[in-house]
Amino acid sequence: MHSLAETADKRFLSFAPGFWSTIVPELWNDWKWQLKNRITNLQQLEQKFALTPEERAGVILSGNKLALAITPHFFNLIDPEDADCPIRRQVIPRVEESYQSPLEMADPCGEDSHMPVPGLVHRYPDRVLFLVTDRCASYCRYCTRSRVVSGVGEHELHTNFEEAYRYLETHLEIRDVLLSGGDALLLSDDKLRGILRRLRAIEHIEFVRIGTRVPIFLPQRITPELCRMLQEFHPLWMSVHVNHPRELTTEVRTALERLVDHGIPLGNQSVLLKGVNDDLTVMRALVHKLVMCRVRPYYIYQCDLIHGSAHLRTSVAKGIEIIEGLRGHTTGYAVPQFVIDAPGGGGKVPINPGYILYHDHEKIVIRNYEGKIFEYPESETTGHSSASSDYVDEYLYS
Ligand SMILES: *Cc1c(COP(=O)(O)O)cnc(C)c1O
Ligand code: SF4
Repeated sequence: MHSLAETADKRFLSFAPGFWSTIVPELWNDWKWQLKNRITNLQQLEQKFALTPEERAGVILSGNKLALAITPHFFNLIDPEDADCPIRRQVIPRVEESYQSPLEMADPCGEDSHMPVPGLVHRYPDRVLFLVTDRCASYCRYCTRSRVVSGVGEHELHTNFEEAYRYLETHLEIRDVLLSGGDALLLSDDKLRGILRRLRAIEHIEFVRIGTRVPIFLPQRITPELCRMLQEFHPLWMSVHVNHPRELTTEVRTALERLVDHGIPLGNQSVLLKGVNDDLTVMRALVHKLVMCRVRPYYIYQCDLIHGSAHLRTSVAKGIEIIEGLRGHTTGYAVPQFVIDAPGGGGKVPINPGYILYHDHEKIVIRNYEGKIFEYPESETTGHSSASSDYVDEYLYS
């Protein structure tokens, strides 16, 4: 009889060492080797396979917008025969990246205007985003923070750590700190331990989390030593970033399980991307695989209006359609929340299919996932709806 793990393993493809067929496992499994051997220029790309003209122009034209970098691990997931490969679209620039539309912005989520201290974004009442590095293992072409990430864009990230700690110490309302960047897991164990110690010394900070794509781009970084270090700082949660089921390789699954085994709850944030995951079948496979890796699908983001992202953006209706196709049809744990990060700095706004057909002070009329209609009595004492059009009137016109 097969163990559950063996059965599950068959659902995960392993591509290593693929394009690096002569590499010995000791080097392949060394995260520093992976970083040193990233694909970072046109010549290295063209040694691996033939680019399309759109990609070739993209690599040449996007160099001063967001750096090119792809770890060998992630590069091996690319199908060289498929110009529309969903892995390829995420990390190889295309000429469309140099097109700008008037709706696009350098800082679509208005982060710079919500920074009381360089590197600290305080937009919500009780939590902050702490940008601790500008480097990532590989660069996502649609990165909402490409103005500061990778070191070649419009701005440089000048995080002032001491000033940030002072701000956190004096703002008693902050109970949740989210480490991001760039990618916090690219820092050395010592540097990261130093940051976590400083945060944990602040009594009113209840909860620390790390937003990272390192377990996906560079699973070799998730060493037992790193996990043991992180374990000292509980409660520590982590949000990873997987967009397509093919990213959940055996190595990635091992890294994710190692994190969970050290008590770190994992959530996943996907970005809805045209030609990558704008499809119910792909998304369903992704959320099912995530749950098997003990990762809870957390958010699906509508792609931000970052410069040069039009070729990767989908309609909002597509995101709603995907949620509609998941909710009720599959495990509730596998259904993420679809959100739009409101342009200019409004924060994340949940976008849901319309399950409320009617709502007044007497009743609510709802539909279920099958389209069947139900009524539930409204209780007068609980006040009235926040879903009615009065809500819009009150808030927009007052
Ligand atoms: C996304 C985000 C957070 C965290 O939001 P949650 O909904 O709590 O996950 C915090 N601060 C900023 C600026 C963010 O963009
Ligand atoms: S890992 Fe995150 S911060 Fe880094 S390039 Fe991708 S989206 Fe941007």
